[in-house]
Amino acid sequence: MQFPQALETVLETLERMRSEGARQPCASRTALETLNRITPSPHSVMESAAPAAAISVGRDSVEPSPTPRPTNENTDKLAAINERVTACVKCPNLASSRTQTVFGVGNPDADVMFVGEAPGADEDAQGEPFVGRAGQLLTKIIKAMGFAREEVYIANILKCRPDTPGSAYGNRPPTPSEMQTCRPYLMEQIEIIQPKVIVALGATAVEGLLGHRAPMHQLRGRWNSFNGTPLMVTYHPAYLLRNQSPSEKRKVWEDMMQVLERLEKPISEKQRNYFL
Ligand code: SF4
Repeated sequence: MQFPQALETVLETLERMRSEGARQPCASRTALETLNRITPSPHSVMESAAPAAAISVGRDSVEPSPTPRPTNENTDKLAAINERVTACVKCPNLASSRTQTVFGVGNPDADVMFVGEAPGADEDAQGEPFVGRAGQLLTKIIKAMGFAREEVYIANILKCRPDTPGSAYGNRPPTPSEMQTCRPYLMEQIEIIQPKVIVALGATAVEGLLGHRAPMHQLRGRWNSFNGTPLMVTYHPAYLLRNQSPSEKRKVWEDMMQVLERLEKPISEKQRNYFL
């Protein structure tokens, strides 16, 4: 039996007992507080507890406090954008070739937001950004920074996988025009989440966010501003998979330490000496 149904049954029983003249039962303050804490939905304990409190007129009965909002406001706002993205056909070729749109994932109140260029084949199949090999490396980087993947927010400039006509394999970077078309969705995401720091992963993400292109060795490790939000540029994890050199990995880690410093997160000695 589901919790709300179980509660309903208890309340009906209490009402019946009262109508039969039974001694009015009392719920302790602790019991009511416990019920309030485990409220699973708006139509649950606090609303349902109101009649319980009315029945419980003994000296221990308490007035219910307001129900805490069960869902985060930003979650609702992001879900509304996602609905529009899911139905979006602004790029007809991508809309017809995609398996599904890939909106973004993570904490709607994240302090850090990682932005890549576009979904690849794995992401298109699973509907979540950064889930392939590059995504696993990104998750490793996030964990080394002291975050769970769920604590940060991860998204791409493009919400659809760039099509690869005539080729069953591989991914291609998004074109400037595709990024321009899809960018407003990302802008809305950033506006809602309001991260303290944005991390742009790779030159294409930098182009999509900041509108300029330059070699990565010139871009990475530097702070930029995206509408007032500090933006750190680092290599895309796919680059690190292609180039396994420890010095390149170290560069990414140094960029991430700058991010931690910006967030005023303590960096342990182990983290300082870490190599990806
Ligand atoms: S890439 Fe973006 S703008 Fe283009 S169809 Fe997909 S969701 Fe729409």
